[in-house]
Amino acid sequence: SSSPMFLPIQSGRVEEIKTQYHNSTKPVSDLHSLDLELIQRLVYDSLVWSSLHGLVVGDKNVQRSGTVPGVGMVHAPFALLPMSFPESQWRQACELAPIFNELVDRVSLDANFLQESLSRTKKADAFTSRLLDIHSKMLESGKKEEIRLGLHRSDYMLDEQTKLLLQIELNTISSSFPGLSCLVSELHRSILNQYKEHLGLDSRRIPGNTAVSQFAEALTKAWKEYNNPRAVVMVVVQPEERNMYDQHWLCSVLKERHDVTTIRKTLAEIEAQGVLLPDGTLLIGNQVIAVIYFRAGYAPIDYPSESEWRARELMEQSSAVKCPSISYHLTGTKKVQQELAKPNVLERFLENKEDIAKLRKCFAGLWSLDDSNTVKDAIERPEFYVMKPQREGGGNNIYGDDVRKTLLRLQVEGSEEDAAYILMQRIFPTIVPTFLMRDGICHKDHAISELGIYSAYLRNKENVIMNEQCGYLMRTKVSSSNEGGVAAGFAVLDSVYLT
Ligand code: ADP
Ligand code: MG
Ligand code: MG
Repeated sequence: SSSPMFLPIQSGRVEEIKTQYHNSTKPVSDLHSLDLELIQRLVYDSLVWSSLHGLVVGDKNVQRSGTVPGVGMVHAPFALLPMSFPESQWRQACELAPIFNELVDRVSLDANFLQESLSRTKKADAFTSRLLDIHSKMLESGKKEEIRLGLHRSDYMLDEQTKLLLQIELNTISSSFPGLSCLVSELHRSILNQYKEHLGLDSRRIPGNTAVSQFAEALTKAWKEYNNPRAVVMVVVQPEERNMYDQHWLCSVLKERHDVTTIRKTLAEIEAQGVLLPDGTLLIGNQVIAVIYFRAGYAPIDYPSESEWRARELMEQSSAVKCPSISYHLTGTKKVQQELAKPNVLERFLENKEDIAKLRKCFAGLWSLDDSNTVKDAIERPEFYVMKPQREGGGNNIYGDDVRKTLLRLQVEGSEEDAAYILMQRIFPTIVPTFLMRDGICHKDHAISELGIYSAYLRNKENVIMNEQCGYLMRTKVSSSNEGGVAAGFAVLDSVYLT
């Protein structure tokens, strides 16, 4: 067939798709003149696959979908086909994972560095200030974390002009989608196998994604370090969580493969039910908590009252393994990222020159707002910068003309508020036409991608027990949208097709 066909795109307009058959080997990005009938089959089959394999989230149109499992499920937003990514930069991102793990651990032990780096931010940002208060309290009481567990995700974009892999941020708390990202890789492999003749793509070019099994392994090893066979892993959750299945995937692997029990508690429940024994043991009801895995507690909204802060402090005081500890949490702030990018700072924490060079190579431009030359330039050319507060979870950054306006306002006010932000070089990845699936509808649009590399780190007083890269998360978003959160509704889950 050669007649033009139509597909809806996100804005509600329709876009013409030339219908031709392709069956030679080619990068995924060349596949966007596929036959409409074929696309419709891919769409249908991928929706069935998602439903049958648990690639699902709670549907925001169903009220109980964030609290009751099995009610109001919808497929997670995903890309119909995997995103091309160059193999060398892929390897580079994977190699960085253990180095960042080690860096986080070293930085977390330097209490003065954390307090000093965040000292001005503390005055401008009440949330960071509360975290720092807990950190100070633990220092004063002489609390030491001997078993340290990090489940991180370092996010990157590939800058189109320079081809450089540049770090967006390093998440040390609540790194999301270790569960669902694995399923998307499997979905894409399955589609590529099933439509081998039509697509001409090789499913083996999609790297296996082991995020969920390796995260479960790290949690199990931490649980073993705690060394109480009757103790459980506690997942700290938000009262309503539509991304609960991502979390349940991890808990289910913990139970079925490792026979480790998890319980889910909100910060409010932990405050109400938690008891700290004199030896530091944390009890919830009559259960001893071996490991605390935070999938909440990273945003101000998670602390609506003093109860939630009391819960955070109670956990920090306990002997349970915290993922993350308050120090690991603070190490993942954007301000610390910016401080680490200053000359000669990495050298304070790492000895290996090659490792330092590898990290530095992936650092984008990062500046504090007391850098007046940069602020001046950002006011003149705001499109080349992103302004970031100390927040997590997407949707908090400032872009474009708002950067100029905000910087000018801060200058006029002359307040301390500027210390709440950092400035970052804006990265411009290659824009690729993509099929994005949301709510059972396929949208064709121009999109850019962000690669997240999961990693796990576990050590005790004597030894590093685990320091590994653990699978990946590809997220693809419409290029006209500034932010990239899947849960926040800007992006879809994707996987990597190595080229
Ligand atoms: P959060 O902790 O809220 O996820 P991020 O630093 O990851 O904060 O920013 C959110 C999103 O904003 C990213 O997923 C990415 O899409 C976009 N973004 C962040 N920094 C940059 C940058 N320097 N250049 C281009 N886009 C960026
Ligand atoms: Mg983040
Ligand atoms: Mg992010």
